[in-house]
Amino acid sequence: MVHSEMLVEPVVQELRIPAGIAGPDEVTMDVRCFLVSHPAGLLLIDTGPGSADAIGAALDRVGAGWGDVTDVVLTHSHPDHVSGLADVAARCPGAVVWAGAADCKDITSTVPLRALADGDHVRNLQVVAAPGHTAGHICLLLEDGILFAGDAVFTDAGALKRPPGAFTADPVQAEESLRKLSLLEPDRMLVGHGAEIPDPAGALRRLLEGAPETS
Ligand SMILES: [Zn+2]
Repeated sequence: MVHSEMLVEPVVQELRIPAGIAGPDEVTMDVRCFLVSHPAGLLLIDTGPGSADAIGAALDRVGAGWGDVTDVVLTHSHPDHVSGLADVAARCPGAVVWAGAADCKDITSTVPLRALADGDHVRNLQVVAAPGHTAGHICLLLEDGILFAGDAVFTDAGALKRPPGAFTADPVQAEESLRKLSLLEPDRMLVGHGAEIPDPAGALRRLLEGAPETS
């Protein structure tokens, strides 16, 4: 049984990016999925590479099992967020899998994907369309001010940053999405890469005051 106080359980993995992809050297990257409890079970946000075992361990930690996972929501189509989907879907065949409408065609899936638009709800999460990083990138807002920001931003050593330009499909749109997220003034913000930071609303405001990096 899922503990009634459990709202969010991060699933943290370290991913090695070979030299030449995210820079000249090999890079170790923090990749996160999240389990979120709702009245009828658990919802999973993102399915990174080889994440099924780590998600299974997280389910153990919260006293739940794969049968409790009712929904899988993908923030966007990049492989570091979706390539564990087939393994995950096989372990929770009853779960409905969702993604932003414009990203569905870019996600390889063994199960049907249901398309999400801005303002839609999946259980206790509200979809906040935040295109730019990818055309169909979505963020998810939990009722009590917790924002799952996907790759709209990331954190590094306690600082909030924009994703590298090389991985941003439309930088102008990405900047508009950041302004939209800032207006939500989240109490907590959980990102796809990097640890949670304090005062995310203030950090988003400060980030927007700085000029976008043009890397
Ligand atoms: Zn991404």
